[in-house]
Amino acid sequence: MKLAASSSCLNQLIFVMKKTAHPHILAFALTSLVALATSGAAEKIKILIVDGQNNHAWQETTPVLVGIYNSSDLFDVEVSTSPAGPPKAPRKPKGKTPEADAEFAAALKKWEAETAEVKKSAKAAWEKWRPDFAAYDVVVSNYNGELWPEPVREALVEYVSGGGGFVSVHAANNSFPQWREYNEMIGVGGWGGRSELSGPYLRLRDGNWVGDTTVGKGGSHGKQHEFVVITQDAAHPIMKGLPAAWMHAQDELYDSLRGPAKDVTVLAAAFSNEATGGSGETEPLLMAIDYGKGRVFHTALGHNTVSMEGLGFQETLKRGTQWAATGEVTFPDISEDELPDDSVMSLDVELAEN
Ligand code: ZN
Repeated sequence: MKLAASSSCLNQLIFVMKKTAHPHILAFALTSLVALATSGAAEKIKILIVDGQNNHAWQETTPVLVGIYNSSDLFDVEVSTSPAGPPKAPRKPKGKTPEADAEFAAALKKWEAETAEVKKSAKAAWEKWRPDFAAYDVVVSNYNGELWPEPVREALVEYVSGGGGFVSVHAANNSFPQWREYNEMIGVGGWGGRSELSGPYLRLRDGNWVGDTTVGKGGSHGKQHEFVVITQDAAHPIMKGLPAAWMHAQDELYDSLRGPAKDVTVLAAAFSNEATGGSGETEPLLMAIDYGKGRVFHTALGHNTVSMEGLGFQETLKRGTQWAATGEVTFPDISEDELPDDSVMSLDVELAEN
């Protein structure tokens, strides 16, 4: 990462060599130097964020994700936005007044026209959308929407099983209940009709994470609140050097996720209190999953920009993404003072200009 010679430094070296070196040696040295500079630049971890559809405000959260990655000079981020999904239907007004009825009729008409327009262009747009996963070290999903076309699904499976990295952020784990390999990648997911047929819950019993095949729906959350995230695997590279517990910014605490749950390491969890509408269980929120030769980091945190401004979210995202890409984490340790368990540490993110 730090290898890339700056152009002024390169010029100086060339100047020195011109004065001293034999032409053949000079040519060889120059080639090596250029290769070194190029490979140094290429050492940045190349991230592709995928978005475009989500029941969450992806237009707001993707720039925050980009900002978090850009806060480190380790990453080089690009975004691939899928075609838009069908627009949301307008809601029927509750009160019955002529004005409300007229307004609803107009909104319905507009929605029908928009839907027809999207449908007309959707096919061609989806045929054109072919993100080149293989060109990146890690793919980060901020996507929760229509099923991707088969070639895109196949490309992701091939990419991750072949050794690529994948990161699932918050509602990305709501995506694709019908896509078997995707659910194996994320370990567990929620909503979209997930049930006992999707696989077990992950439950903490006597200090171990076990599969629980109890009948029931997959995916729920109580009222948003701040909560303490507790490390479950302190030796894992993503968690090593972080405090054992830290207060997370206001967020949805996802509970009762279920899925194939194969090769999942639960990295961190939080207690989902029934008093706030939760499950009464300790819920897995940060996970590492092995998928073929690839690595997946799953963070169930990050409902909106407020939750993403929590320092704990940011640090675990950066660490998890580096781990998914390379298998190691080089970020410095964070002390309990910097990331305490009794108050939220929040950091504004510098948004990239478009
Ligand atoms: Zn959410």
